[in-house]
Amino acid sequence: MMLKTIRVMLIPNDKQRTRLFQFAGSARYAYNWALEQEKKTHDEGGKFLSNYELRKRFTVYKNEPNNQWLYTIGNNVCKQAVKDAVIAYEKFFSGLAEHPKYKSRKRSKPSFYADPVKIKFTATHVKLESIAQSKKKNRQSANWFRLAEHERIPTNAKYSNPRVSYDGLNWFLTVGIEIDTPEPITSTNDGIGIDLGVKDLAICSDGCVYRNINKTGRVRRLKKKQRRLQRKISRKYEKNKKGGSYQKTHNIVKSEKQLLRVTHKLTDIRTNYIQQVTTQIIKREPSFIVMEDLNVKGMMKNRHLARAVQEQKFAEFYRIMQYKCEWHGIKLITADRFYASSKTCSICGNIKKDLKLSDRTYHCGNCGAVIDRDMNASINLYHYGKSIISH
Ligand SMILES: [Zn+2]
Repeated sequence: MMLKTIRVMLIPNDKQRTRLFQFAGSARYAYNWALEQEKKTHDEGGKFLSNYELRKRFTVYKNEPNNQWLYTIGNNVCKQAVKDAVIAYEKFFSGLAEHPKYKSRKRSKPSFYADPVKIKFTATHVKLESIAQSKKKNRQSANWFRLAEHERIPTNAKYSNPRVSYDGLNWFLTVGIEIDTPEPITSTNDGIGIDLGVKDLAICSDGCVYRNINKTGRVRRLKKKQRRLQRKISRKYEKNKKGGSYQKTHNIVKSEKQLLRVTHKLTDIRTNYIQQVTTQIIKREPSFIVMEDLNVKGMMKNRHLARAVQEQKFAEFYRIMQYKCEWHGIKLITADRFYASSKTCSICGNIKKDLKLSDRTYHCGNCGAVIDRDMNASINLYHYGKSIISH
C-alpha cells in the first residue's frame, strides 16, 4: 500500500470560482462560529463542547430563518470546519498549539474540505459535491472542475482528506491517496532510454523523437507577445515615475493582466505537452526507463542553453515521468551525472573526449559510426539501464 499527498491546480470557470469563494467563506464562518460557542460557554463557566455537541447546535443554528443560506453549501464543508475548530482547541489543551484564533477574511487563506467519499476523478476533471446550485441533471456539469495537470491523480484510488484552497492567484486541490503498490509490470518490451535535448525535447532509444514545442509557430507568437507586453509595461513604468517611486496606472494594471494571461497560456501549453509525451512513452509499456541526472544539463553555464532548459521544463518532465512510472510499476533509472552519455559511442563504447556542444552528429573515430548526437546519447542511456537491470 502506498500513501501519498498530491496537490493539483484547478481551472474553474467564473461561476465555479464564485462558488469556491462561497464555500471557503462558509468554512471560515462555521469555524469562527464554533470558536465563539466555545468562548461563550467557557465565559459562562461551562465545560468544553465536544464536536458532537457542536454539530447538534450547528444543525439548530442552520434552521434559524436567517441562516438558510448555509444549506446552499456542501454539507461536509461546515461540518469539517467545526471539527477543525475542535481539533485546534484540543491541540491547544495538550500544549501543541497556541489558543485558536478567529479567521479573518483578510488574513486567513481561503480553504475548505471536500467529501472524500463523494469526490470523483477522471483523467482531466474532478467532481466536487454541491457546487451546482440546482439538482437538475443538465446542471450537474458545474460540479466538474478542470484539472491543470491531466492524469495526475489515479481514478481508482481511495481518497482521504481532500482540501481545496486558494493561494491568492489560483485554486488548488490537495488530496491523500491510497493505492495498491503496483505489481512491477511483466512487460517483455524492451526498456527505453530518453535523452532530453534542446533541438528536440525528447529523443528515445526506440527511435521516437518528440519535437521542441517552443519552436512551433503558436508558442513563438505567444513568446513574442509576451516580450512586447513586458517592454510596454516597463516603458510605462518609466514614463509615470514620480520622484523616486513608480506609479501603477490603470493602463499598467490592464497590461499586466494581459501579460499574466499570456504567461499562463504558455505554461499551459508546455505542461500539457509534457503530459502528452510522457503518457505516450508510458503507453509503450517499456520494462524500464532511463533518464539522465538533470543536473548535467541544468548546471550548464551556457546562458542560451539554460533558457532552453527552463522553457522546456526538464525538471517538470522528470518529475512527471517519475510519478507515472510509479503508478504503472515501471522502473525508472537515473543515470549518474558522470556517465558520459553524449561522449560515448553507442556502437563500440569508445569515448570521444573532444565532442563539442555544437557537434550535432557523432562521428566515432574508433568504429567509424555516424549517428545523431542525441540518438547516440539515448541509446547509451538505454545500455546503462540494461546493465543495471541485469546486475
Ligand atoms: Zn564507435
